[in-house]
Amino acid sequence: MRASRNELILKIALPVPLRRCFDYLGDEKLFATPPRPGIRVKVPFGKSNTHTGIVLGVSRDSELPVAKLKKIITVIDQEPVFDATLLQLLEWASSYYQYPIGEVLFGALPPPLRRGDPIKSKSEYAWELTATGRHMDSSGLKRAPGQARLLNMLQSGSGEQLRVELKNRQWRAPLQALLNKGIVQKSAIVTAASEHNSAAKNIALNVDQIQAAATVCERMGEAKRYLLYGVTGSGKTEVYIEIIKKVIAAGRQALILVPEIGLTPQLIQRLRGSISAHVVVLHSALSAGERLQAWIEAGNGTAAIILGTRSAVWVPLQNPGVFIIDEEHDISYKQQDSFRYSARDVAIMRSKLSAAPIILGSATPSMESIQNVHSEKFASLTLTSRTGDASHPAISVIDMRGKRMFGALSGELVEAIAAEMHNKQQVLLFLNQRGFSPVILCHACGWMVKCPRCDTRMIYHKHLNTYSCHRCNSQSRPANECPDCGGRELLPIGHGTERLAETLTELFPSARILRIDRDSTRRKGSMQQMLEQITAGDADILIGTQMLAKGHHFPKLKLVGIVDSDRGLFSTDFRAGERLAQLFIQVSGRAGRENLRGNVIIQTHYPHHPLILSMIDYDYQEFAKIILRERQETNLPPYSYLTLLRAEDYHSPAVERFLTEAKNNLNLMNANLEIFGPMPAIVEKQAGRFRYQLLIQSNDRNLMQRTLEPWSKSLENLKSAKNVRWSIDVDPQELV
Ligand code: ADP
Ligand code: ZN
Ligand code: ZN
Repeated sequence: MRASRNELILKIALPVPLRRCFDYLGDEKLFATPPRPGIRVKVPFGKSNTHTGIVLGVSRDSELPVAKLKKIITVIDQEPVFDATLLQLLEWASSYYQYPIGEVLFGALPPPLRRGDPIKSKSEYAWELTATGRHMDSSGLKRAPGQARLLNMLQSGSGEQLRVELKNRQWRAPLQALLNKGIVQKSAIVTAASEHNSAAKNIALNVDQIQAAATVCERMGEAKRYLLYGVTGSGKTEVYIEIIKKVIAAGRQALILVPEIGLTPQLIQRLRGSISAHVVVLHSALSAGERLQAWIEAGNGTAAIILGTRSAVWVPLQNPGVFIIDEEHDISYKQQDSFRYSARDVAIMRSKLSAAPIILGSATPSMESIQNVHSEKFASLTLTSRTGDASHPAISVIDMRGKRMFGALSGELVEAIAAEMHNKQQVLLFLNQRGFSPVILCHACGWMVKCPRCDTRMIYHKHLNTYSCHRCNSQSRPANECPDCGGRELLPIGHGTERLAETLTELFPSARILRIDRDSTRRKGSMQQMLEQITAGDADILIGTQMLAKGHHFPKLKLVGIVDSDRGLFSTDFRAGERLAQLFIQVSGRAGRENLRGNVIIQTHYPHHPLILSMIDYDYQEFAKIILRERQETNLPPYSYLTLLRAEDYHSPAVERFLTEAKNNLNLMNANLEIFGPMPAIVEKQAGRFRYQLLIQSNDRNLMQRTLEPWSKSLENLKSAKNVRWSIDVDPQELV
């Protein structure tokens, strides 16, 4: 129906879990100019609620009777919060991942803007010395040591680092005092050049690096796609830096994504050390205010470099010049709950919409990216060797069968560690299991401690003196006796990082042992502190889970031991082989940088397994060939496309009913997709809920997309959907 003359019909996205937008009436007088998509408004919703909404479109018509439409209350923004390209990206992502548009849009906004706060940049200022202050001797402030220290700081430094330091509470009073005495004054912030670290080391790029950077820079304004492949330490970061310099010189911005927060400090330092530009970071550990500020600076172009984790892919950019996804294979680019997007894939689409190149960098590219190079969707850039004198590690395999063990360690590995301790070198032992032991069983009858809410065993944590479930976080006090037979001997079986640390303390009592896993790094800043300790050489043996496998740079590390490689060899997930190969190369890459030849020792009971054999050659490309051949034979990604419909509930019949109806709906659409299930998930019960899934497969991505959209809307209307939790996962990374 048509609206009357002075009224517009606005299509508005609201933060509600429905796959649609809502029509509202807007009086033309509310708008100085016709409302543009991306503008926020306040609207009535439900009986008495108001919501912030985002305008997606304007029209004169509605499918609903105009008289029934509600009126918007106010207009919040003059300028859209998302520019046209970003809005297009968000709409694409909502439809590609079958996730409600309102939740996608609101999820991309910093929290204060979701609430409807106006976009306001904090007016920032810096502190600087007055002429008096510049020539003053701090000994004149003896009675006020805080002020004296502050004066010394101001006299010896300037720039971003100092500005950040001065935000610390402890300086508030001394600053005020110096201000009153006319020793300091407020000044406007000078960004850009002031952040340049004059001590920047100037590295002469090698031929491969020059070639790689030049290839990208030649076609700057095009949405070209590159896979930058180079082993750890081959100088990929230097290539990024070279490209970013060119991008910034052209007045454009660079967005760099890294898989986890822990990797940002090192990278910021290197960026600031070699590029004179304003860098902002975006990740979940920032306060709402800091996030908003970075978001604003990226959107208005004040920030030239934006460095962030997964969700930074949604940051507004004034003039994007390049997208860089470091460690592109990393699974953390895929959000594993609610809106299940892949930041890497979203960035690829963003590059296309923004007409700017994208570079995916990795020492262990995903099979998808390698296949994209084969099919020439991506150009390949390769760095062939490690820089400087560092070379590939020497790899050896220890056949553990029948060997005498010291805890989780074979005698040979113990000897190798002892040799490094003797030479005062660092050792990293990799064990992807936190806690003390992954199994606790009754010696009398074999009963095992299981999680009461999941289909999994409890993990024994000795430090915390608890049994803990790593799936649902249930915890209980360790039992004194077996509930089945009353037996009093409950044995911890298998080894976690805690137990490994105990073994090592017994074997090497004078070694400084550092355990780095999610338990030991829970406290804010502790990860950073441990990394510094490692870099400084203040630790001899590091015990780490996969947390430690990623991108960190440990200059003093000599030996890496892979304590348990067997578990990764046998798994129901078709990606397990790929992950094991990546993990192995990444972990081994920690050894032997900066002139040390590294050693890697793998412990296994299956020394002849093909994956173990290809590890010895340290040849990821060979790995990839084996894995891709398998995937092709079984028609799995990247040779086909998958979508998973997951559902869970306390009553399994409700879940099965929903999935059966969902399957029927899909069959009715006659789309010629392969459908498997409903079937139980690998972990069938979790946190008390039964989990089932439907797997959909096709070789035709467009067909899959065209079918998923109406299908996902049809699921919202199923009665059986009301009783269960369900979600759609397009391009799932884990089938568990
Ligand atoms: P990647 O990102 O591939 O792991 P980096 O860029 O971090 O590799 O480089 C590893 C180390 O080698 C760094 O310390 C870096 O400063 C140094 N480096 C990189 N390129 C060169 C070069 N051309 N000459 C000398 N040193 C280099
Ligand atoms: Zn028992
Ligand atoms: Zn549990």
